[in-house]
Amino acid sequence: MAKLLDKQRYKCALGAMQSVQAIERALPVLHSGPGCAQKLSDTNGSSGYFSPNIFPCTSINEKDVVFGGVKKLHSTIDNALKVVDADLYVVLTGCIPEIVGDDTGEVVSEFADSDKPVIYAPTAGFKGNNYKGHEQVVDAIIDQYLKKSDEKEKGLVNIWADVPYQDLFWLGNIRELEKLVASLGLTPNTIFGYKRGIKNIDKITKAEFNLLVSPWVGLGSMKKMEKKFNIPFLHYKTLPIGATETSKFLREVGKFAGVDNEKIESVIKENEDYYYYLIERYADLFLENRVINKQFTVVADAQYALGITKFLVNDLGLIPAKQFVVDDTPSKYREDIKKEFENLNFNIKAEASFETDGYKIHEEIKNHDYHGYPLVLGGYYEKEVTESLKGNFINISWPVQDKVVLDSHYAGYSGGIRLIEDIYTVAVQRFN
Ligand code: SF4
Repeated sequence: MAKLLDKQRYKCALGAMQSVQAIERALPVLHSGPGCAQKLSDTNGSSGYFSPNIFPCTSINEKDVVFGGVKKLHSTIDNALKVVDADLYVVLTGCIPEIVGDDTGEVVSEFADSDKPVIYAPTAGFKGNNYKGHEQVVDAIIDQYLKKSDEKEKGLVNIWADVPYQDLFWLGNIRELEKLVASLGLTPNTIFGYKRGIKNIDKITKAEFNLLVSPWVGLGSMKKMEKKFNIPFLHYKTLPIGATETSKFLREVGKFAGVDNEKIESVIKENEDYYYYLIERYADLFLENRVINKQFTVVADAQYALGITKFLVNDLGLIPAKQFVVDDTPSKYREDIKKEFENLNFNIKAEASFETDGYKIHEEIKNHDYHGYPLVLGGYYEKEVTESLKGNFINISWPVQDKVVLDSHYAGYSGGIRLIEDIYTVAVQRFN
């Protein structure tokens, strides 16, 4: 029986056009109906050199459904190559061409000799959400663009994290992860954001290892690169937010990369000293407010639900109520992620629920006894229900509608401090 999904937190796989857009000078070429890009684009930092309004699109119609849209796709790619100056053209398929059986791979292969690379990713909406679509884009780069390299660059580390634009803090987070890795004396390599793009894509196969910072998104791509290019990977499941997790992150990455232990510990000490100096200055505020928000709930994708739960328990000593993971995590990853929620300091365990239905989540929040005002970190959908319970609300996950995010971040020591600022800025407003 058909299910009604209330307050969906993700888009269809074609939403991965935003992952392509996040690669500087990469152009999504859409083989889809005319309304898809319009429906999937939002206004959160997605204008620029290429924006959804100018993505070339086959805009397939009834006639193409009957006779096939491959000719139209061929001319759309051809014209995109002529009139749009990009470094990489990524054809993304929507539902209609995949249902009628257009052979997109065949059409794209006709451009194998063009001056600029053209690749394609199957991202029909019925194949999954934009987390999966993101993986399809990375897989397309691996399968159709990258070539095995015997040359390795010492200390070069590819960093992969969660999904650009779906995570509004993606840019700041990935830059912060780069800084942390660089502080260990390693050379980070990322493909998303300012001044990265094709030149960094070209370096991927020269890396000593891949570092995946995500509970599950991208794990398949890491395994693919290990098999295809012999690049080992370190899977760090938790987005490190605040001192406890970031220090652990540095130790694990450092150990995996063979960094001298003394060097790792000196980097950690320098960061922790400043972090705790800042915390100490506001310790009285935090203690007073602990009485107000005794328990918290995070409603977010696996990345933030896990990262923020660990941060609030391990660094701030708060008690978790139920946590909701809303990204439709594939079932094969769920047990592992649940175990991470139970791996908290002070023998505290958090219960995690993989739930995509906003109605059910809100009913559970309303019926839970938070022993005071709840602290809820979630999508904008949670604002109303939190306010109805007189709780404190922070909008950290999609949809983000009550803040503008340019390059703010929650990753790392400094990200933890930003999150503390955001939480307690809301908390102190209660007294104004
Ligand atoms: S679900 Fe299909 S038709 Fe709808 S926006 Fe996504 S690709 Fe287009």
